[in-house]
Amino acid sequence: MAKIFCIANQKGGVGKTTTAINLAAGLAGHNQRVLLVDLDPQGNATMGSGIEKANLNNSVYQVLIGLAAVRDCVQRCESSSFDVLPANRDLAGAEIELVDLDSREQRLKDALAEVANDYDFILIDCPPALSLLTLNGLCAANGVIVPMQCEYFALEGLSDLVNTIKQVHANLNPDLVIIGLLRVMFDPRMTLQQQVSDQLLEHFGDKVFKTIIPRNVRLAEAPSYGLPGVAFDKTSRGAKAYLEFGAEMVERIKQM
Ligand code: ATP
Ligand code: MG
Repeated sequence: MAKIFCIANQKGGVGKTTTAINLAAGLAGHNQRVLLVDLDPQGNATMGSGIEKANLNNSVYQVLIGLAAVRDCVQRCESSSFDVLPANRDLAGAEIELVDLDSREQRLKDALAEVANDYDFILIDCPPALSLLTLNGLCAANGVIVPMQCEYFALEGLSDLVNTIKQVHANLNPDLVIIGLLRVMFDPRMTLQQQVSDQLLEHFGDKVFKTIIPRNVRLAEAPSYGLPGVAFDKTSRGAKAYLEFGAEMVERIKQM
């Protein structure tokens, strides 16, 4: 049975998609069978995996609405040997259409149940909102990975996310836990980032992953080649950090 993780933070541009793609590639590199679910109408995880979002016949949108099964929609990230359930702007419509459907927040969970035995890991890249799409991600998942930049407002946003996760845990998905907070785009020369990082450790202790992802331009360049950073330039500091993060995740899950 696949372990299902949601990569979520309602703040935009904090490194969710970069984390999702590189963790998928890193786990696949350890011979794990991985499905990356793009749950964002921006389709960044799709494009970053080398799949053209404009040419999709079937996508996660059709899955959520009940028009297609997951198996009929998955495509392969050839460079890094994982599967992708792709998304494009069609998915923006799902937000409205789902409202009238039965068990609207459980649609992704039900759909993924059909492929749970085909994979070791299913990673869900969430959009930057605490929306019905993100709620579907949280209901489907066993755990949440929260990438964050160590900036002043990051801590404020974090309490909203933690409250949402608590509510989902209490009302909709008793399995859901926070796996950990991942410090990304980290620049140790910035005193403020160090201070926020210290505060995070103080408040969240072991919930903060030991691995820190540095700010690294190679990670930002990779998506324009349709490649995960870890495939684009394995020797870059960013790629090495994500590979280390993959190993830390595997260890952490063993303790779950
Ligand atoms: P959104 O909320 O829009 O979905 P996101 O949280 O998924 O955004 P990303 O798309 O992963 O964030 O990252 C935002 C931008 O920062 C992208 O241009 C990405 O290439 C860049 N980026 C992400 N991580 C790093 C890093 N460690 N070093 C440098 N640039 C990075
Ligand atoms: Mg994203």
